[in-house]
Amino acid sequence: MAGLMPSTGRTRRDLITRATAVAAVIMFVVTGGQVLPKVLRATFGHGEGPDQILASAMLLNIALILLGWRRFKALAREVVVSRKVAAEALELAETDPLTGCLNRRSVNAAAEKLLEAIRPERRALAFALLDLDNFKHVNDLHSHQAGDAILRAAAERLRGLLPAGSLVARIGGDEFACIIPFDPRLPDQIDLLCARLVEQVGQVVEWNGMEIEATVSLGLSRSDSAANDDIQTLLHKADIAMFHAKREGRNRIAWFVPAMESELRFRSELEAGIRRGVSNGEFVPYYEKQIDLATGELVGFEMLARWISPSLGRVGPDIFIPVAEEIGAIAELSESVIRQALRDAREWDPRLTLAVNISPVQLRDPWFAQKLLKLLVEANFPPHRLEIEITESSLHENIGLVRSMITSLKNQGIRVSLDDFGTGYSSLAQLRSLPFDRIKIDRSFISSLPDSEENRTIVKSIVSLGQGLGMPVTAEGVESEEVLAALGGFEGLKAQGYLYGYPEPADVTLAGLRQLHLALERKEKAAAATPVKPRRARSA
Ligand code: C2E
Ligand code: MG
Ligand code: MG
Repeated sequence: MAGLMPSTGRTRRDLITRATAVAAVIMFVVTGGQVLPKVLRATFGHGEGPDQILASAMLLNIALILLGWRRFKALAREVVVSRKVAAEALELAETDPLTGCLNRRSVNAAAEKLLEAIRPERRALAFALLDLDNFKHVNDLHSHQAGDAILRAAAERLRGLLPAGSLVARIGGDEFACIIPFDPRLPDQIDLLCARLVEQVGQVVEWNGMEIEATVSLGLSRSDSAANDDIQTLLHKADIAMFHAKREGRNRIAWFVPAMESELRFRSELEAGIRRGVSNGEFVPYYEKQIDLATGELVGFEMLARWISPSLGRVGPDIFIPVAEEIGAIAELSESVIRQALRDAREWDPRLTLAVNISPVQLRDPWFAQKLLKLLVEANFPPHRLEIEITESSLHENIGLVRSMITSLKNQGIRVSLDDFGTGYSSLAQLRSLPFDRIKIDRSFISSLPDSEENRTIVKSIVSLGQGLGMPVTAEGVESEEVLAALGGFEGLKAQGYLYGYPEPADVTLAGLRQLHLALERKEKAAAATPVKPRRARSA
């Protein structure tokens, strides 16, 4: 914009030009009044010609007037050009060059104007905030040009569907805001329209012979004369609703309701609390007993993480693991609890095993096996006592990667088991191709075993499947003697569940082991402290 403003040098020049022109005209009138009659009289032979000096002054005046005229015409041309440039610059400043939509800066003023315009008509405004669901993935997988094509297509589709008088703005990388006037007596219209927006914008886009798809989540808020919200608040509410739509599974619509605000606040407190908790060591291991059903003996423990939060108290992993995964804190959290567990387990009888759960996010880390080995070496813990649990649902992410990870863990002597089996629909072919050491049947099949013939059949088939594949089976969630009795008919099972006690922290676990003479005494601990030599990793 600075380039459009007239420079002070030019203004001064124009002023001088104008002043000179005005002076020249005045002088021309004065000198012309004296010189011209003399020239005319001399021409017709009635007198002497004009004074030489006055004649020269008049000629100079004529030259100055001509010069001023030319400058005036140039000035007029400049004004036209600079007006055009100013209009273009204003448009550039208000619109997004990629999509032609309004940009973030201009949406506020444009929406204010719209709000003013519809007020006398007793209409309301709906604020729809749309966010593409897998835009980053499109950019990463297909290039930024493909991402641009998706954005342009989204803008075009929005413009095509919105009623006249609506505004469309691109307010972030993959975020669009639509501001739509509507009749407040017919709010269903907005629901229908937004359903169409989500459906249409999420359609595939053809790009370079490929079909690319990016679904969209939409959050909605509406101007309400009672609340008297400003534009920014309305957009913020739509944003909260959009976030809610994402969390509910994406590719959907959500209207803002006030409860969402407190939910969002809780969520951000949770995120901040988890980050703080990881560095403050608030995540601790609890241990659940694992029993060999044939002998009834304790054979090991499964470590289950707990968050002892100063504000929330004891929090279970179902709450904090998904959040830690989303905010990228899971690896650090997991390493911290595994490190503590390895230290705790060194106090136990060396025949007891330790099982730990691993998130699918960690499985995607190519250095995961190395990191785990480092923890084992640091704790001087023998790899053969460690068992890694991978949930069945994580197998679908990238089977090749999971296979090579399992192989490299097994090469280190670590055992790997398939957790929550029966909930993730893995195929027999997948199961055969993955070298698991053990299958853990999900507790949903076990807890209702005495009453459900169907579950008995399922458990029976899983046990015989395990036998066929050479993978022993653990039954999770054994809560009662009835369930235990129902499991009696199956061979070679391990079991765990509340029947044997709830998961306990390290000190309670150790005290229990002492009573069973399964805790190491000081002398034995020293003897057990032979350094662990990592095996050389074979290629996975
Ligand atoms: P999981 O690995 O299947 O662990 C078993 C869960 O079932 C535990 O819940 C345990 O407390 C519960 N459970 C055990 N016996 C019974 C029973 O008899 N009845 C019932 N109703 N429940 C029983 P928890 O501790 O809440 O853990 C939930 C899930 O969180 C675990 O499922 C595991 O997948 C995950 N998890 C726990 N710790 C970690 C961790 O350190 N890292 C990762 N990535 N995930 C973890
Ligand atoms: Mg588990
Ligand atoms: Mg499980």
